[in-house]
Amino acid sequence: MNYQMIIDGKAVDTHQSFAVINPATEEILAECPAASVEQLNAAVAAARQAFPAWSQVPESERQQKLHAFADLLESNMQELAQLITLEQGKSLDGALFEMGGAIAWGHATAELSLPVEVIQDDEQARIEVHRKPLGVVGSITPWNFPVMIAIWHIMPAILAGNTVVIKPSEMTPLSTLKLVELANTIFPAGVLNVVTGDGAIGAAMADHPDINKIVFTGSSPTGKRIMASAAGNLKRLTLELGGNDAAIVLPDVNVADIAEGLFGAAFFNSGQVCGALKRLYVHEDIYDEVCAALVDIAKTKTVGNGLDEGVDYGPIQNRKQFERVCELVAEAKELGADVLLGGEPTAGKGYFFPLTIVGGISDGTRLVDEEPFGPVLPIIKYQDVNDAIARANDNPNGLGGSIWSADTAKAKQLAMQLECGTAWVNNHAAIQPNMPFGGVKESGIGVEFGPEGLKEFTAIQAVSLPK
Ligand code: NAD
Repeated sequence: MNYQMIIDGKAVDTHQSFAVINPATEEILAECPAASVEQLNAAVAAARQAFPAWSQVPESERQQKLHAFADLLESNMQELAQLITLEQGKSLDGALFEMGGAIAWGHATAELSLPVEVIQDDEQARIEVHRKPLGVVGSITPWNFPVMIAIWHIMPAILAGNTVVIKPSEMTPLSTLKLVELANTIFPAGVLNVVTGDGAIGAAMADHPDINKIVFTGSSPTGKRIMASAAGNLKRLTLELGGNDAAIVLPDVNVADIAEGLFGAAFFNSGQVCGALKRLYVHEDIYDEVCAALVDIAKTKTVGNGLDEGVDYGPIQNRKQFERVCELVAEAKELGADVLLGGEPTAGKGYFFPLTIVGGISDGTRLVDEEPFGPVLPIIKYQDVNDAIARANDNPNGLGGSIWSADTAKAKQLAMQLECGTAWVNNHAAIQPNMPFGGVKESGIGVEFGPEGLKEFTAIQAVSLPK
């Protein structure tokens, strides 16, 4: 299949290309176009040209088009899911789940609006607060949920009246090319453009004088580079960055009731989730019981090629990430941690690493202090919950956190002491389209989803009228 970029509504070829690898087989899946900086400039110019007309389209019409786009995703769900599995690695069920999320978020975003707020209307003056689109939005996405995260970026940007240039991760660009091709049957030319390439094209976007905002999901180091480049024209930024979420389990829980919840939050998408549970702090009274329950669940799961029937978890998405996971686990072992399950990469082709649970480990080890972004869960024993909270907070990241307890009122109080953008009780990594989601500290700037997320794609214009 010939993959092409879409600029100004037209399919565009490139002189250069790069290989997209299937992580389950390490075979080349396709050649993807590699955009030149001139092509990026053309995409930005097309978006700029489309902006005045698109920003004047009535909100109700934009909402309708968003719904139509979400419907089109639904009618192409199988094809897109297949492509996600091939390039990302997750199971076909996981890819269909991702598609379901993208469609649900699409429709939910299409229901949002930006009403004018009247903050004063008396004998002196009438003052209105309007929300205006920013112009051209550059979207840069990662490889863990290529379609869903693209939808999180594109839908609110376009609804607010902006036009968009999206650059997917060079690891998983194919599903985004397909998605933008579909979108261009609905939106006017230039409203949504796609360029494919590596970090250099992303860096050129962050630096681009005619892009007004960057919405970025990816690692914290890249987020910092984007922020520095964005200073050139004071681009607006939404940065959804890495996380190293802690969950703290109190001794009053019924382990059997919570084990599935803990397990799912840690291993969903093979742990390649920004808001996954990545550090599990368990009270010493129930430590062994929790470890055993998680190991028992893990033993029932199958890791394999995502296209195969009955596979629960696919490979790690790329070689670099695979090597990082191998390194962090090997280092923990050398330092004396107990590998309770897994722990060694699977021999043969594909970036396969088994579900791995590591006990006898504490803070100060890279596997705990850094985000592994793979199917590995370190479980840390604690005695005093205040100490556990202090250790959970002693980390540069602050995306999510959770407390697990039979006493939800007490758990809420403790959860609110966690330094993070989302605090869950007896749950973790559960997100929904109407709940703002974002990180504090080095996990990012701004939020996505719901009215708060939509407003990030706008500038305020206050209008003051004398009476
Ligand atoms: P990454 O930062 O390496 O790459 C993300 C994107 O940025 C890719 O499209 C890449 O080409 C581009 N890029 C690379 N260098 C760039 C530069 N200098 N300027 C502009 N763009 C550049 O991240 P990744 O490895 O794809 O994703 C994994 C990371 O993303 C993890 O740390 C994870 O926690 C984080 N993540 C966060 C969220 C969230 O919502 N907070 C969601 C998913 C992933």
